[in-house]
Amino acid sequence: MTTQTSTLTSGRATIAEMPSRARVLQNYVGGNWVSAQAPGLLDVTNPANGQVLARIPLSGRDDIEAAVSAASAALPEWRSRAIGDRTQFIFALREQFLKRIDDLAASITQEGGKVLSDARAEVTRAIEVLEVACASPMTIQGRVLEGVARGIDSQTIRQPVGVCAAITPFNFPVLVPMWFLPFAIVCGNTFVLKPSEQVPLTSELVCSMLEEIGLPPGVVNLVHGAHDAVNAILDSPGVRAVSFVGSVNTAKYIYRRAAENGKRVQALGGAKNYMVVMPDAVVDKTVSNVLSSAFGNAGQRCMAGSVLVTVGDAQKTIMGRLKEEVKKLIVDAGTNPEAALGPVISGTACDRIHESIESGVKEGAELLVDGRRPAGVPAGGNFVGPTILNGVKPEMRVAREEIFGPVLSVIHVDSLDEAIAVVNRDPRGNGTSIFTENGAAVREYCRRIEVGMVGVNIGVAASPAYFPFSGWKDSFFGDLHVHGWDAVEFFTRKKTITSRYFSRGETGKYFVEQGDKH
Ligand code: NAD
Repeated sequence: MTTQTSTLTSGRATIAEMPSRARVLQNYVGGNWVSAQAPGLLDVTNPANGQVLARIPLSGRDDIEAAVSAASAALPEWRSRAIGDRTQFIFALREQFLKRIDDLAASITQEGGKVLSDARAEVTRAIEVLEVACASPMTIQGRVLEGVARGIDSQTIRQPVGVCAAITPFNFPVLVPMWFLPFAIVCGNTFVLKPSEQVPLTSELVCSMLEEIGLPPGVVNLVHGAHDAVNAILDSPGVRAVSFVGSVNTAKYIYRRAAENGKRVQALGGAKNYMVVMPDAVVDKTVSNVLSSAFGNAGQRCMAGSVLVTVGDAQKTIMGRLKEEVKKLIVDAGTNPEAALGPVISGTACDRIHESIESGVKEGAELLVDGRRPAGVPAGGNFVGPTILNGVKPEMRVAREEIFGPVLSVIHVDSLDEAIAVVNRDPRGNGTSIFTENGAAVREYCRRIEVGMVGVNIGVAASPAYFPFSGWKDSFFGDLHVHGWDAVEFFTRKKTITSRYFSRGETGKYFVEQGDKH
């Protein structure tokens, strides 16, 4: 097999440093672990030290078609099972997650860099999603109306869509695949997962759990790869629905191409989330929430608060404390229990974040806290410490682009109206928070803000699994959001049956209801 090797990190882990026999991952297709047919390979590195953990195949069209065929073959038997039977597999997967939470967390930390406490929290949220999917025998129910006309009833039932696929990002290796997989399969669909090429090992672990619980072959398939695999999913006639999570431009591209091919699509894009602090905000609580929102998971959350907007005197009460407290955050490998933030995902990300910080300084922002060279971090890792740019203007690049790193930009405004205008002019609208004890300000903010998820005195207002999760504007393309009731809507098709039955009367004539002339 010819291999074409590339590396995800720029200059930190070079080909010369790679162990020559890093394991090559296999795809999971039709219940078997199989080698990809496409020849390309890509290294998976530990972002904390640059160590090559494995190599993934850059699967292509044939590999995707093999997975789609396996999923199509499994569909008739799977969808004809009783819903209670399908639900048992979700219960069993939840048990696996509970039993192996430490293994899952360790895998997330190893390949994604997240600190272990955050990784465990991610698994806990994924368990919550599994629990909501277990309610499907209730949530999937249709509706019936007796007597739409004399003797005629109508009912809407929900049926599976067919083969569904998900294409997921690097920053939540367990949670984001679980936003889709359990709902898709419990609704009677079969599934193909293409995880991020940067964090494939955790999906491999999840598939090994599905194997262990005896999920029938072909119900869930895993294909590793990057752009070629994604394009093959988008073009495959066998795939009926595509769920995507990633950056804005990729989301737009996925939405367009999948829709052109007649598929149902939900595409969640990138974000720029604003935290508005009013002068009456409770200082201690606000500062700790702002810090964990901006710097948790090294700022690599789609719900990370990356812009702080202080209103009026909030600037005076907040900024000093923020500067004091941020210095206490420890940057280290995610395995250090003391660490508040671990590395960013790759050397490329590290370079991009440095460049953003430099652009902020060039454009006139004050570098209040400089995290570009954190001390005492492991060699070879992609570390950036918490960074605060003060006095940012909305037109600066740092205020316009998603940095996706531990960088907080601070904008000062005079009024709530001005704050709302700053937030609403952003083309994205994933999450936002307001910090205040003033109910009228909260009401005004919630009513006027053009953002999908709003927190009140909460730094990361991610919807719980039983509510829909999604942004607005460029943060989301589609109409049905993630989890909550929307999941059942997305993963089922409605069919309406209108029926009438005839009974035979004493005279031998047929009638539809007692009282009819016959
Ligand atoms: P990404 O867009 O680079 O990659 C996401 C997926 O798309 C990966 O599986 C990748 O293989 C594939 N992909 C990337 N570029 C492609 C292309 N040109 N053609 C075809 N496929 C392509 O995103 P990422 O860097 O893995 O994740 C970070 C981004 O995801 C951030 O922008 C973040 O805000 C966003 N995100 C959004 C949400 C949300 O809920 N809105 C949640 C998590 C992450």
